[in-house]
Amino acid sequence: MTATSLRPDAGRNASPYLYGAEAEAVAQVLAGGQYGHTEVTESFERQVAGFLGVPEAVAVTSGTAALHTALVAAGVGAGHEVIVPSLTFCASVQAVLAVGAEPRFVEVDPLSLCLDHQIVLDALTPATRAVMPVLFGGRAVDLTPARALLDERGIAVVEDAAHAFGSQGAGGRVGTTGDLTCFSFGPIKNLTCGQGGLVIPRTPREAEEIRRFRLLGVVQSQADRATLTGYQVDGYGLRYQMSAINAAIGLAQLPRFRTTAQARRALWCVYRDALADIDAVTLVEVDADRSVPHLCQVRVPGRDEVFHALRAKGIGVGVHYPPNHLQPAFARWHRPLPVTEQLGREILSLPFHQHLDEHDVDQVATALRQALAAGGRS
Ligand SMILES: *Cc1c(COP(=O)(O)O)cnc(C)c1O
Repeated sequence: MTATSLRPDAGRNASPYLYGAEAEAVAQVLAGGQYGHTEVTESFERQVAGFLGVPEAVAVTSGTAALHTALVAAGVGAGHEVIVPSLTFCASVQAVLAVGAEPRFVEVDPLSLCLDHQIVLDALTPATRAVMPVLFGGRAVDLTPARALLDERGIAVVEDAAHAFGSQGAGGRVGTTGDLTCFSFGPIKNLTCGQGGLVIPRTPREAEEIRRFRLLGVVQSQADRATLTGYQVDGYGLRYQMSAINAAIGLAQLPRFRTTAQARRALWCVYRDALADIDAVTLVEVDADRSVPHLCQVRVPGRDEVFHALRAKGIGVGVHYPPNHLQPAFARWHRPLPVTEQLGREILSLPFHQHLDEHDVDQVATALRQALAAGGRS
């Protein structure tokens, strides 16, 4: 039972779920000659809003830009603290720093890799202005028991839902539960625009502010456009609109999203079954009926050796993520987080994407067994 190398396609850690229609959609935009923020972008926003069942959605250049813009819209800035799990992609933290606020790193529940209401309540300080739950691997986060207190103190919930497009939580589909929700449509996310992101605002006023911020602070209502000569800069802002080229990819993806979601669920279940008899690894569970699994993660002792053994066989394992409170750039905000530190040593993400079949998953499981046996851990 020797695991051979996976095909190069299958060996990647992640890749987009594509259907061919994306290339045609991009070709059409290129032929049309208008590449910036156009009706294609606005059509993508309407389609996503319709898909989720929310009144408004504002598209931006990336998930990082979505988080940055959402924090601006929530009034977060210098002197404020944002509660954020250390176990997240560094983009969550950089967005907090972008508005001049301070990250307050917190633990996660080791079973879900997400923070919970108790972790949030324990971390509140007078400076807390926002909480940024990360919907890790596609798992919704329900902060209901902390909600009244957060509202009373004017603390915004800005969801980093970069992993969780299409997932369902206790209160409904992610993005519909009344928080500022930020999606990423980067190349390997559940839905892709090539690069892109999107904010679900809480109010029409917030939507307007987000639209102004993503257009360099320039006012852009129809009425203003009709009366102004040139343009008027109303405040600080950046170049964050989504291009028609990226929006076209998203528009082509959206009608096929159910297929993607089903395929991701099915693949996760194949992994679950293939790994069931490997005692040394613990699968990080996800409710595959409600969530759209974004990753397939295990916790494994001797992770670094296993990581290198699998990589040597062409199996694109990854680590999502090295804890942020241990990163040199974020050392100022370090505090001891033992649960996260242990997770940081144990988590391993297995290849999880469109090019994998059951045979590939078996090969990954076999390679994992062999690596554990070589390390004396099987
Ligand atoms: C991908 C990701 C982001 C950032 O999104 P980009 O589109 O890459 O800017 C933020 N947070 C998490 C958890 C992510 O996985």
